[in-house]
Amino acid sequence: MNLVIFGGTILTMGSMGIIRDGAVVVEGGTIIDVGKSDEIKRKYPRYERIDASGKIVMPGLVNTHQHAAMSLLRGYADDYPLREWLENWVWPFERHMTGYDIYVGALLTAVESVMGGTTTINTMYHYMEDYNEAMAFAEVGLRGVIGHVCFSWRKDHDRKALNDLAGRWHGKADGTIRVSVDPHAPYTVDPEYMGELRAITLELNERYGSSGEPIIWHTHLAETEDEARKIKESFGVTVENGVVDYMDSLGVLSGDVVAAHCIHLTGRDMEALRTRSVKVAHNPISNLKLASGVSPVPELLNMGVTVALGTDSPCSNNSADMFEVMKFTALLHKGVNKNPILLPAEQVLRMATIDGAKALSWDNEIGSIEPGKKADLAILNFKRPHLWPLYSEISHLIYAVKSSDVETVIINGRIIMEDREIKTVRVEEVMEKADKAKEKLLERLHSH
Ligand SMILES: [Zn+2]
Repeated sequence: MNLVIFGGTILTMGSMGIIRDGAVVVEGGTIIDVGKSDEIKRKYPRYERIDASGKIVMPGLVNTHQHAAMSLLRGYADDYPLREWLENWVWPFERHMTGYDIYVGALLTAVESVMGGTTTINTMYHYMEDYNEAMAFAEVGLRGVIGHVCFSWRKDHDRKALNDLAGRWHGKADGTIRVSVDPHAPYTVDPEYMGELRAITLELNERYGSSGEPIIWHTHLAETEDEARKIKESFGVTVENGVVDYMDSLGVLSGDVVAAHCIHLTGRDMEALRTRSVKVAHNPISNLKLASGVSPVPELLNMGVTVALGTDSPCSNNSADMFEVMKFTALLHKGVNKNPILLPAEQVLRMATIDGAKALSWDNEIGSIEPGKKADLAILNFKRPHLWPLYSEISHLIYAVKSSDVETVIINGRIIMEDREIKTVRVEEVMEKADKAKEKLLERLHSH
């Protein structure tokens, strides 16, 4: 579709900065021109138009750490100690989840995410052949990196799943779906398997990927204080200088690794993140809810580490709202460091857009509004009492906006939501499916 979005304030998050009364031209899935409305309207008289007068046009948000299928567990169990929460609640529930449940959970998260202005999600879950998260994202039209989570206890299963996932989905759905290899964490993946997963990633990239479209890594790292002890307990390996340093000693860290959390870090850990260009996915709401601790984000940013943002799963957050995540990020680090100048609004917005794209090695196509990039856009209505009056668009986006202020969302040049109506799937139907899946899961759980 050829489209001109005109009249709005364009936050490009790129070299063109903020353009007032600006316009974006989309041809196929790609942005071909950005400029002042008058000029653009003259240049492209025949293109279909979206009037964004009085509205904000921004790059869609990039959620760099999700477990999309887990929306089926939203609110199922809260306020327990982590171990009890996992062992007595989350894991027993998940053992009964089928491929279809995973698909339905991911559909629900995809719809919720689009409605909140998110256009790309990096998700780690179990890949199944029959139904999976990739199918759900493609159906909704959401861009995503779909992972398969790997554990030492099921290596054969993982090898097969990774091959199938990469072969069937990498670069598919008009290039909106990419895949990743996801070692769960250094205490559930033994050192040897960690190395093997690196080799598998290389092989898969040779077969299905390319330098512009890589198959990346997605893992949990340094989430809880006792991670070094858990590694020793599981594999008999002594971790002396921190868990990131330990991962580095295995030779598995590089610029294609998205490491979620990175909370409990030694000096050597931070140095390893920097020298290996590892990308950090910061999940402030999940970290607070699970009482995991606070990641030293200001220090990491100072060192030049790329820190992007994520919600984490819908049962440790419990929403997929990236505007909430941005606000928490800005407030949390000011509060714990007693320093109001840390994490200013503009920096936080970068973390959720262009730096999120960098984290997923996808910044050649997404994360900012620039000619040549894919058209992933969110249009917000600022004519609301809670967004009035207006001094700075970016201030409002971080401190005052609600995700329900997002009106229209375009992904890969397709209008996925217009005036808050999702065009690709019926939202009521998705909710009904999720409700039925939940009831059946509870039945299976209680009959065991
Ligand atoms: Zn997680």
